[in-house]
Amino acid sequence: MKSKIWLSPPHMGGEEISFINDAFSSNWIAPLGPNVDGFERDLSGYTGARHSVALNSGTAAIHMALVTLGIKHGDEVLCSSFTFAASANPVIYQNAVPVFVDSEEESWNMSPLMLERAIKERLRNGKKPKAIILVHLYGNPSEMESIMQISMHYDIPVIEDAAEALGSFYKDRHLATFGDMGVISFNGNKIITTSGGGALLSNNKEYVEKARFLSAQARDLAPHYQHSQTGYNYRMSNISAGIGRGQMRVLDKRITQRRANYSYYRNSLDKLPGIGFQEELQDARSNRWLTCITIDPRQSGGLTREDLRLALEAENIESRPLWKPMHLQPVFSGFPYYGCGISDGLFERGLCLPSGSGMTEEELERVTGTIIKCFEKAGTKSFAA
Ligand SMILES: *Cc1c(COP(=O)(O)O)cnc(C)c1O
Repeated sequence: MKSKIWLSPPHMGGEEISFINDAFSSNWIAPLGPNVDGFERDLSGYTGARHSVALNSGTAAIHMALVTLGIKHGDEVLCSSFTFAASANPVIYQNAVPVFVDSEEESWNMSPLMLERAIKERLRNGKKPKAIILVHLYGNPSEMESIMQISMHYDIPVIEDAAEALGSFYKDRHLATFGDMGVISFNGNKIITTSGGGALLSNNKEYVEKARFLSAQARDLAPHYQHSQTGYNYRMSNISAGIGRGQMRVLDKRITQRRANYSYYRNSLDKLPGIGFQEELQDARSNRWLTCITIDPRQSGGLTREDLRLALEAENIESRPLWKPMHLQPVFSGFPYYGCGISDGLFERGLCLPSGSGMTEEELERVTGTIIKCFEKAGTKSFAA
């Protein structure tokens, strides 16, 4: 059996262990500590966000953003439909109502047109949405200009779910710093990892300080334990943050490697009939966390994304369908949705290819070779020509 090629495995740089050793030798084996402070400084320095708080997951960061904005029972929150469920679950934690919005074709991210249509209709129904959760999928920047214009025009705050987008920029400005708050994830499969963790970023000090307070059990200033608000236990541990500090040192290298994966795939597969790629919008620079393709069976000689996925699996190569949109998920059935089938089609035709930053050229070749062989077997006409 050939060695396994994973979709997006963790990739240590080497320095992580020295930060963990520091934690051990000073006995900071605790939530909070000098690595957490250092990691928050690193994150603010890298992204340009004035304030940041390190948490134990990206999901917790989205939840804290909603709580900080005062989202409560019955409030409506607009949310990208084409995403991972963790973007929308915190809306449910608050007993609020997610209103899902479809993608636009190029970037695969939230369509400004559909967003505005949704807002207008919700307003007509007599209810103003309280927030927009905007996802930058697979690291690819959304149409920031239009989205922020809409946010300002209707006065609805934006929470940027940049969980997959650390190291992605729009007009040289880091994602997660355009909206009122931004969220990063350091889960094991993301571009860098703390083995599990997240962060909430903002230029608004009040938001971040409130999230910092609530995520550490909302303890009032008193010698005894006193609470006047409901708290959460969401802070990052000093050990995890040590991994994060080491990973920050190699982040730029990881981005270069992931972008090189994308270029390799694009050069090798672009000419195959029916294959499409996720595009960067003008002035956008994606970290290319995952390289994703679409396969249109009407042009590929009948080949579907499932044919390719199974062929890769037979070669011990992990690939994965694109996210199944939230408006198609059983758990979210019955919530409002504004769209025109873009994300439905992407889900049907789309496949995430192995995109680890440690992939060798030989491994990339194994992936593209397997895909090209599928097309040869299908005897696709334009390919043979
Ligand atoms: C990973 C991810 C999250 C959640 O982050 P966790 O750290 O795993 O909780 C949220 N949104 C998107 C789009 C993600 O990919």
